[in-house]
Amino acid sequence: MARPLAPSIVVVGSSNTDMVVKATRLPAPGETVVGGTFLMNPGGKGANQAVAAARLGGAVTFVAKVGDDVFGQQAREGFRQEGLDTSWVLTDAEHPSGVALITVDEHGENCIVVAPGANGTLTPDELQRAQSSIAQAALVLVQLEIPLETVARAVALAQAHGVRVVLNPAPARTLPDELLRHVSVITPNQTEASRLTGITVHDDTTAEWAARALHAKGIGTVILTLGAQGALVHHEGQTWRVAAPPVEAVDTTAAGDVFNGALVVGLAEGRPLRDAVDFACRAAAVSVTRMGAQASAPRRAEVDALQS
Ligand code: ATP
Repeated sequence: MARPLAPSIVVVGSSNTDMVVKATRLPAPGETVVGGTFLMNPGGKGANQAVAAARLGGAVTFVAKVGDDVFGQQAREGFRQEGLDTSWVLTDAEHPSGVALITVDEHGENCIVVAPGANGTLTPDELQRAQSSIAQAALVLVQLEIPLETVARAVALAQAHGVRVVLNPAPARTLPDELLRHVSVITPNQTEASRLTGITVHDDTTAEWAARALHAKGIGTVILTLGAQGALVHHEGQTWRVAAPPVEAVDTTAAGDVFNGALVVGLAEGRPLRDAVDFACRAAAVSVTRMGAQASAPRRAEVDALQS
């Protein structure tokens, strides 16, 4: 069957360079632990989701800001290699590119400090310059690693142009009802859903309560991601569960980012919601079977090969 034309997707969000040191254990305050290995990986939720969507066939325009430094140059080059439209990857002359300093111990436990740098200076007016791309998109995807007023502008612009907007409300925080009211699809994990609603999500019942609470704020489609349990969807008065395909999980880093990238590709292609969520669950399941964030994002054929 012929695949539809690549759907155009605008991702607005962060780009970081993850600097990962693996060590036998995490250092205590004031302590130095010697013997770690060092890895440097492209990251940031916006970039991860943009790359995931592009690998799955989306025509992705990425709106972001990097510093005028080697990390920014490397990130931009990486986006080009992944086929992203980088016309709206802006350069901040004064602030460095975003970095995340990550220490991982031998049990996989980690400790992360993020310096947002240029991500924190992407203004609503700068985003507004990408208005024509947003107006022509099938879908806009945004997360919360850039200033909230810029997120709000992305949501407002998409709404003004009749373009569906998917909000991945990560990292967890509370959000104004005025912003949520204009979101078409929201995709919190359990922690984020708990923070947004005040309902502690720990099982199916509480997940459904949280989904209904978000729906009551005016969001048409609520998709709670539930790790190895898959996802719970609340849409048009119906609630259903989508099971995660059983896989041997090796590293769940960026599972949520791959889920979101795949979801917007599925939706932008015009698939029914059930199919799009199923596709997202399969893509995320493939990603947890290998190490890394962007590195673990699958290609289309791998997702199609994994039957849920
Ligand atoms: P992360 O922070 O690790 O990127 P997240 O907390 O944002 O992830 P999760 O709900 O943990 O989001 O995972 C997102 C999706 O990834 C799930 O809805 C599920 O489809 C898939 N997933 C996560 N863990 C597993 C697993 N062990 N096996 C199969 N699928 C998984």
